[in-house]
Amino acid sequence: MAVPDRFGLLPAGPLLLTTEETRLLWAFVHGDIMDAAVRSWLRASLGFCPRHTWAYAVVEIELWEAGVGGRGGHQPFDVCVLYEDLCRTLSARLGRPRGWGRRAEAALVPSRRCYLCAQLAGAPREGFALGYANSNSAALAAEANLLRHTRRWCEATADEWAPAACPACLGAAAGAAAGTHDDGARLCRLHLAEAVRRVAGDDARAGALLSAASARLASSAQGLTVLARSMTAAGAPADARTEASWIEALGFFGGWQFPAFLAGIRADGAP
Ligand SMILES: [Zn+2]
Ligand SMILES: [Zn+2]
Repeated sequence: MAVPDRFGLLPAGPLLLTTEETRLLWAFVHGDIMDAAVRSWLRASLGFCPRHTWAYAVVEIELWEAGVGGRGGHQPFDVCVLYEDLCRTLSARLGRPRGWGRRAEAALVPSRRCYLCAQLAGAPREGFALGYANSNSAALAAEANLLRHTRRWCEATADEWAPAACPACLGAAAGAAAGTHDDGARLCRLHLAEAVRRVAGDDARAGALLSAASARLASSAQGLTVLARSMTAAGAPADARTEASWIEALGFFGGWQFPAFLAGIRADGAP
């Protein structure tokens, strides 16, 4: 399995989900997400770690074959519902005045461990794994790892999300060292936390970075609401901008290396 960088971000490449990750995520899509205690865990953990942020979308998009709305399946419906909540919650938290003595970047740092990583640590690792409704998790993992539908989503919407993607992540995706990037409106959560740490003591600068991120998250939440509606029976089809909103949201929380890899994007803009 590829090793994350010092920010915890993924290298540019396929995820290669294990059978156990697929089994747990497939069960998550079918049930855990509805649980109030899990929702509050996910708010505290700011969603999943970067790997499981994208793994969650891959499992839903690749494996969920039937669906309503114009696409009829292979769409990130649960992902939209969860990340609409996370974007709205974090946007509000970043917009609030910081408590006395709290670090400026505190709201960007998870206060709980990734829910999937915690389950993996306590789960059996070997043997034939029966998953949700007795599904064969090894076969599901092999199918998910083809990334057919996720790649199609990332490629088809790249014109919309790539200009707004974190420049530090795209630099890393291209194999370049992530340099000093100052663009608070585009930085992912991890590079934004680093940028805010760098301007420690300059409250005005830190505040500007955080309020740019807050505004961006509020707009992502709106896009996700409309996109989720397009996946329901009565929903109107979404435009290209809206279709990209789930990638923007997951890119903020889990970094952009994975969609950039799938869409074949490099930091210099070359295909
Ligand atoms: Zn994880
Ligand atoms: Zn980044």
